[in-house]
Amino acid sequence: MKVLLIGSGGREHALAWKMAQSPLCDRMWAAPGNPGVADHAECVDVSPDDTGGLVKLAKDNAIDFVVVGPEDPLANGLTDALRKEGVLCFGPSAEGARIEADKAYAKNLMRAAAVPTAEARIFTDLAVAKAYVLSREHGVAVKAAGLAKGKGVVVCPEPYQAVKPLEEMMQQKLFGEAGETVVVEELLIGQEATVLALCDGRSIYPMEALQDHKPIGDGDTGPNTGGMGAYSPVPILDDDMMGRIEREVLVPIIDGMRRDFGRYEGVLYAGLMFTPGGPKVIEFNCRFGDPECQPLMMRLRSDLLEAMVATAEHKLDRITLDWDPRHAVCVVMSSGGYPGGYSKGFVITGIADAEALGDVKVFHAGTALKDGKLVNAGGRVLGVTALGATTAAAQKLAYQAVDRIHWKDCYCRRDIAAKAIAAS
Ligand code: AMP
Repeated sequence: MKVLLIGSGGREHALAWKMAQSPLCDRMWAAPGNPGVADHAECVDVSPDDTGGLVKLAKDNAIDFVVVGPEDPLANGLTDALRKEGVLCFGPSAEGARIEADKAYAKNLMRAAAVPTAEARIFTDLAVAKAYVLSREHGVAVKAAGLAKGKGVVVCPEPYQAVKPLEEMMQQKLFGEAGETVVVEELLIGQEATVLALCDGRSIYPMEALQDHKPIGDGDTGPNTGGMGAYSPVPILDDDMMGRIEREVLVPIIDGMRRDFGRYEGVLYAGLMFTPGGPKVIEFNCRFGDPECQPLMMRLRSDLLEAMVATAEHKLDRITLDWDPRHAVCVVMSSGGYPGGYSKGFVITGIADAEALGDVKVFHAGTALKDGKLVNAGGRVLGVTALGATTAAAQKLAYQAVDRIHWKDCYCRRDIAAKAIAAS
């Protein structure tokens, strides 16, 4: 089968690495890919936002199956355009992607489907939003309704702290149109975890649970990023809790979407908070998480490509996923200064040494080749992922690997998975 993968992050490297192991995969292309993806696929310089260019690429190369990694092309209707041309693909329609691309829509859908989630108000007027937060007695989360590369959420433990992000989003247009509408939520207290499920429009198949780390600093301090690390499994998510999430969250939201627009196909990501009142949804995403995908792919023993094709063909009931019982920890190494400004073009060394430790895979995200040398070229640069008998063992190995990798000003959090280790 000829496969085309869309995207250029660590998630896409993990998907490419895993799909390349499938006997079904004869040849793979990636648009645009990255130097890690290039180990498995022919990288073509077409932007994920160029819907027409990607449809042409798929047709010209008689691609059998397209896998869409990131949310923007899904929200732009890439799978709709491909399906119109008869190309099989993995990922929801633009209508399905609204569950992530429009947080106001997602909140209304959750309310209509009785999915447990934080109480929220939706605003398009700055003065009204400010008056509302200042009338609150407790903290709030301020969220740009549109897509903001994972950075459009500001947690404000005191209500007055919400004024600045509201002004930045609604007045200064920090996230452009994405912040013209904001969702202001009550603050939920509890542990977080993510559940991803394959959905074919009829059946759902929940995968192993994960936890990511959004803030840049140790101890969850500093501004939110696209994600600084992740681990799997998650201690709080036992079989009973997974059953509850399936019944209370996944089934009702899929039914709600079916009533609203039809079939949701692809992967659904539920970010959850385990509050004293039970699990509540923080957000839904319409694709694999990045970096959550990296530890997930390390633990997946089954054929990913076969499972994604079965999802796209509405035959998910024929699939069983087998997981490595070992624990996986992924530590993201970023450019110093991220999520603010940072310098690019520093030579990266030590990846082969890190992988020589065994049970370690280094996934590329913001890397590039310059004069034949690998350099940092983005905020999040590498996802150093390790397997171990326990979370503590996986964490130790991941940091041993991290310590073998270097470029000028590289940075990582030093406490990825520490909370899970402390709780076990
Ligand atoms: P999101 O991009 O929606 O996943 O939000 C980023 C992070 O902000 C989450 O991982 C949570 O840690 C935090 N967050 C979002 N919404 C809330 C909320 N209602 N209460 C508490 N924390 C939240």
